[in-house]
Amino acid sequence: MPELPEVETVKRGLAKSIVGKTIADFSCDWHKLINKPAAKYKQTIKDLKILSVERRAKMLIVKLSKGLNILVHLKMTGQLVYRGKSKCVVGGHPIKEGANCLPNKFTHVTFSFTDGSQLYYNDVRKFGWLRLYTDVELEKALAAKKMGPEPLSKEFSLKYLQQLTKTGKNRKRVKQFLMENQNLVGVGNIYSDEVCFYAGVMPDKPVEKLTTQQIKKIHEGIQKILKAAIKAQGTTVSDYRNADGSAGGYAKYLKVYQRYGEKCYRCKAKVVRMKIGGRTSHYCPQCQK
Ligand SMILES: [Zn+2]
Repeated sequence: MPELPEVETVKRGLAKSIVGKTIADFSCDWHKLINKPAAKYKQTIKDLKILSVERRAKMLIVKLSKGLNILVHLKMTGQLVYRGKSKCVVGGHPIKEGANCLPNKFTHVTFSFTDGSQLYYNDVRKFGWLRLYTDVELEKALAAKKMGPEPLSKEFSLKYLQQLTKTGKNRKRVKQFLMENQNLVGVGNIYSDEVCFYAGVMPDKPVEKLTTQQIKKIHEGIQKILKAAIKAQGTTVSDYRNADGSAGGYAKYLKVYQRYGEKCYRCKAKVVRMKIGGRTSHYCPQCQK
């Protein structure tokens, strides 16, 4: 599952390709992926212009003219592919068939633009979804998810995090606490491990036992690591690809995630792993307390 830096990377790549284009046609062959009949989609969004591509948590928001929006979640195997005359831009999980033969058997949604280019939504396992919403409906739908703040926003202040360690959801263990969407969004398995290493904190440490200094380091780590990962265009995990089809560059900066049995770069101890709430967590037994 992609995390914040990976979705942000797809968003940026996609924005470069589709903003300013006008929708000429829409089709969908799998009704469960969309929230209204395909004919209704077509009728509503035909002739509308793409104003911007935004992100909230791990979702993409394609903003259209006339106050309409398409909310997209790629989930485990979703992929967006833009194909123009001279370029092809892949965002999300690649599919073996590649971008050369499109649409393919995994293409379930096609947006055609007036300039002859297309945006395809492909999904092998069909866990992802698209929602057509008005501005008001979008606001309602997002509010209903009761998500915490974006970790790189002003709302995610040190004070907020300190308060959260006393009141937040899922306060048992640090890793679970960081991955809980109601506390903050976008941090999953990879970046929670990396943040714990950065802060020198054991991932299974009870949240109530964190010191003020450790909370400060966790807050700092979240910001630094996510920013660096966005800059490196995310981490490529199990074939995840960026909007331009390239692999994310952050993998080479990972300190503990999926480095089981390898030496810690800081102290040379072996990186170990354990299960926390069903998720595998990697950590250095010497550097993290
Ligand atoms: Zn170490």
